[in-house]
Amino acid sequence: MTERQTTLEVPVSIEGQGLHTGTMGTMTFQPAPANHGIKFKRIDLKGQPVIDATIENVISTDRGTCIGNNGAKVYTIEHVMAALRGMNIDNAMVELNMEEVPIKDGSSKFFVEAIKKAGIKELNAEREYIEITENITMEIPEKKTKIEIRPSKRFSLSVTIDFESRVLGEQTATMDDIKEFPVKISPCRTFVFLHELEFLLKNDLIKGGDLNNAIVFVNRQIPQEEMNYLADMFNKPRVKVNGNGILNNLSLYFDNEPARHKLLDMIGDLYLLGKPIKGHVTAYRPGHHANTEFARIISDKISVLAND
Ligand SMILES: [Zn+2]
Repeated sequence: MTERQTTLEVPVSIEGQGLHTGTMGTMTFQPAPANHGIKFKRIDLKGQPVIDATIENVISTDRGTCIGNNGAKVYTIEHVMAALRGMNIDNAMVELNMEEVPIKDGSSKFFVEAIKKAGIKELNAEREYIEITENITMEIPEKKTKIEIRPSKRFSLSVTIDFESRVLGEQTATMDDIKEFPVKISPCRTFVFLHELEFLLKNDLIKGGDLNNAIVFVNRQIPQEEMNYLADMFNKPRVKVNGNGILNNLSLYFDNEPARHKLLDMIGDLYLLGKPIKGHVTAYRPGHHANTEFARIISDKISVLAND
């Protein structure tokens, strides 16, 4: 049975704030023809430059995956890419009137809901997969990172994180089939350690951050004075640390929500290969840098095989 490529039935927009810039903006998923792939368009810039969501266009993986081309950039694309892959969308033009994707709640949930609302249309072209024919492994010893993919009839992942911290030790998340993405993976929110968050706030590296778009882990005692400062920063009457080391009034959707979020990021980053993959991924301590490097290795292997 052949599968057909898809796009959105109608355009659909999402409004929201960028995490790093704090700017409010609109992102619109526009339907696109077969073999178009996923592209981003900066409609706020002169000439409305288009950036292909490909591994070649990755220009930074610092706190998120950023793509750029011809002087135009789009930051933090990974949660949108994950939603498109998770909903089996092959073709879309993602229009933005700012340089960053809205962070929303730090998950892919709002993007998945928007795609559902727009509807999915089949196109008159066959879907092509990247089929993994041999095991591919990558290790980054200084980060204790190891990622492997082996042949499989489906796309499945098993992701383990270990921050070697009292509040966030080793945990694993798995996804056996992309059908599980909307319910099990897409609502899982990003997370940050309090010391990182404070560094980002003090250095003006995040502006859109509030207590609704990241799970904040606290691995030390915080003096009341600092609690008050954070309450001010977050515009809340007060903040506190819950028993499981999580700051604020968020509760986890799943015990292993952080590992599930890293799995989500990985799905998004691997979709920069331009086509869905058939293969089983096992990842230990992944991150945007490792994910995109791994995608590059897969991409190189494929082009070698194609030229054989
Ligand atoms: Zn993420």
